[in-house]
Amino acid sequence: MAGWKNYIKKSISDPKDLPSYLSCDNEQLDKVHRVYPMRINSYYLNLMKNSGQELRKQAIPDIRELQDREGMIDPLGEENLSPVPNLVHKYPDRALFLVTNQCALYCRFCTRKRKVGKAEMLINDDTISKGIRYLRQNNQIREVLVSGGDPLMLEDSKLEQILRALRKIKSIEVIRIGTRIPCTLPMRITTHLVKMLKKYHPLYINTHFNHPAEITEESSRACKRLADAGIPLGNQSVLLRGINDSPEVMRELLCGLLQIRVKPYYLFQADLTAGTSHFRTSIDKGISLMQSLIGHVSGMAIPTYALDLPDGGGKVPLTPDYLCSVGAKMHFQNYCGHQYAYPNHECSFEQTNPAK
Ligand SMILES: *Cc1c(COP(=O)(O)O)cnc(C)c1O
Repeated sequence: MAGWKNYIKKSISDPKDLPSYLSCDNEQLDKVHRVYPMRINSYYLNLMKNSGQELRKQAIPDIRELQDREGMIDPLGEENLSPVPNLVHKYPDRALFLVTNQCALYCRFCTRKRKVGKAEMLINDDTISKGIRYLRQNNQIREVLVSGGDPLMLEDSKLEQILRALRKIKSIEVIRIGTRIPCTLPMRITTHLVKMLKKYHPLYINTHFNHPAEITEESSRACKRLADAGIPLGNQSVLLRGINDSPEVMRELLCGLLQIRVKPYYLFQADLTAGTSHFRTSIDKGISLMQSLIGHVSGMAIPTYALDLPDGGGKVPLTPDYLCSVGAKMHFQNYCGHQYAYPNHECSFEQTNPAK
């Protein structure tokens, strides 16, 4: 058995099996994991042991998941945008293809909490073939986002079957894999896997780190392997209350990612997912957080802070406002709060005689 599968096998999936140093009210939590599954693999468990609440909150069930009255079951309206089950076609030129319901760690704030890790999220060869057929028949789709669950939970051979089928479709230019595994189970990034992935370029991977304590020797090595195979790496974090919503933590996370060759891509405002409301910050807080970053750290480290609108509206960027006044001259405020003017017109030139 490959090493990584052993880590999955030894995962904790029942709160009563949590070690006592994680001291939580297991009896209360017992109700939670029956509704929203739990999985903490031994790699992440060890990280949790050696760090503060920020990693624990991401992985250990919380009774507030069952007390949430604000959240929505399917906040992004994905089921309504699925022409075939587990394929979401929201934007004209790209599609989201869910290829497994499994993850190496079940994030408590998961946006697909309604189905990830549950039997209801039925994925098998038949649903995958139907997805591929849809992609073949809709040649305006240039990019496929392979996600789930976590696609790297599939065996190399199974994942390769899917990538090979996608690459046979002429209209698909780019394959993008969304996976949290470089962060949550980095030993999954084997040389065998990477050798397989690099046959399917242009292939991008967006991973998902939320806290600097997740940047370890192991996760750095995993990202290095992927980057050395020519796979551009992006990161999608979720802004999480009490976890990464301070300028200091976010700065350390973003700069740390650049050091392991991962380019911060999105910082998401938390979705309105039922069972996750205790993680949500206000949008104001996110915008001032962005303000504390822009100009102060490398532009390379700055993600787009984005809100994925409810009911399938799509993503919109949320940006601090640097424009102070509009007119013949525009006035801007820079990252330090100083004001600057810039003319708002196109130059006109006298008509000159053409060369004689
Ligand atoms: C987020 C998302 C995408 C990709 O959006 P980008 O802005 O290109 O990263 C595509 N399809 C769906 C359904 C999505 O939710």
